[in-house]
Amino acid sequence: MTNYDVIIIGAGASGLYCAINAGYRGKSVLVIEHSKRVGRKILMSGGGRCNFTNIHNGPKNFISNNEHFCKSALSRFSVQTFVEQVERHDIDYHEKTLGQLFCDDSARKILGMLMTEIEWAGVEVQTSTSVERIEKTEQGFTVQTSNCQLTATSVVIASGGLSIPNGGASPFAYQIAEQFGLTVTPLRAALVPFTLPPESLKFLKPLSGVSHFVTVTTADGTAFTEAMLFTHRGLSGPVMLQASTYWNSGEKISINLFPNDDCLQWLKQQREQKAKSELQTLLSQHMTKRLAQTLIEYWQAHGDNLHGPIGQMNNEKLESIAELLTNWKIQPGGTEGYRTAEVTLGGIDTSQVSSKTFEALTVPGLFFIGESLDVTGHLGGHNFQWAWASGFCAAGYV
Ligand SMILES: Cc1cc2nc3c(=O)[nH]c(=O)nc-3n(C[C@H](O)[C@H](O)[C@H](O)COP(=O)(O)OP(=O)(O)OC[C@H]3O[C@@H](n4cnc5c(N)ncnc54)[C@H](O)[C@@H]3O)c2cc1C
Repeated sequence: MTNYDVIIIGAGASGLYCAINAGYRGKSVLVIEHSKRVGRKILMSGGGRCNFTNIHNGPKNFISNNEHFCKSALSRFSVQTFVEQVERHDIDYHEKTLGQLFCDDSARKILGMLMTEIEWAGVEVQTSTSVERIEKTEQGFTVQTSNCQLTATSVVIASGGLSIPNGGASPFAYQIAEQFGLTVTPLRAALVPFTLPPESLKFLKPLSGVSHFVTVTTADGTAFTEAMLFTHRGLSGPVMLQASTYWNSGEKISINLFPNDDCLQWLKQQREQKAKSELQTLLSQHMTKRLAQTLIEYWQAHGDNLHGPIGQMNNEKLESIAELLTNWKIQPGGTEGYRTAEVTLGGIDTSQVSSKTFEALTVPGLFFIGESLDVTGHLGGHNFQWAWASGFCAAGYV
């Protein structure tokens, strides 16, 4: 039976980062990964360019039942520390928007950096290996894998959440939590596109591929301003992915198609300057022609008469049009679910885990890091920053 100081389950972002830093502390570390390859989500992230962190990252970018839990790790492992590591490996990167840092070239560079450091740190990685059983012993744990039985002083669960099931995701972390008496908060897909019910899709599906800059507000008042993308199933784009995290089934979302302008003022100006023009023509200056046309058709079908020259519309009419354009209430049918979600909202209840060490309070030697915990980041590199930070901090105590 081979003995390790630390066995880490999951060779994703948090598991690899924890392994590297535990290895540098002189620990003997084994990472067990059930997929054939390590770091698959890193490779698919950021459209293949990995949005590896965000320069504006902070506790405000995370959702958890305990909003304070993430603070300690985020303050002990800064964005700058990770960026400096990327620079030491000569990886070129750029800020795309809103503080989001992406590789210039490919996400492979980030995985390459991690695997180089895995080697430097003397960490062993076993892929295509399943964990069948973990048991607590007096000295630590026995871990039964599909290949052999192992022992370790510490076990770190870094097996992530449920998103992208055919990319290696599994409920392993939640099963281990349950085995050791820890609770898991309700789980659902997040950072995920919305689907629309057939009655809306009938109008909006032809817009598939069209994007527009909007503000979206969810029922709880949370608002995001970014690009919206129409898809053949519904609504996506960064703004909708962000909103999905705050959306509950059955709720409406509100879309402001004029996030940076005073819409009513603009309509009144158009009435003065272009009295003979139709609303659809005027809207085409502000959005694509196709979008303007479809929106008019959609609202007409929903009982709003929007035809006729703008010069013949009174103030009350313009106010109702401004309301449609800035507070377009739409009811998603649902989301695309874990199949395309970037993350799982919810996870291991953080009240049962130390925010300093990431060790389960009632099970000495058992650690949970990364997405398995009830800590979910906004879109934009925050989830990776959490993976690095939680992995780094746990490595100091395994
Ligand atoms: C398409 C996509 C794009 C994304 N883009 C970004 C982005 O650009 N920026 C960003 O910040 N975040 C992004 N994310 C989110 C980010 O990838 C995750 O938040 C992050 O990878 C979580 O790290 P983790 O280590 O907790 O889990 P993961 O990285 O998911 O790693 C978990 C690992 O555990 C393995 N595993 C699971 N079950 C078992 C088991 N039973 N036994 C052994 N191994 C197991 C998995 O195969 C996987 O390798 C993206 C997610 C997706 C799906």
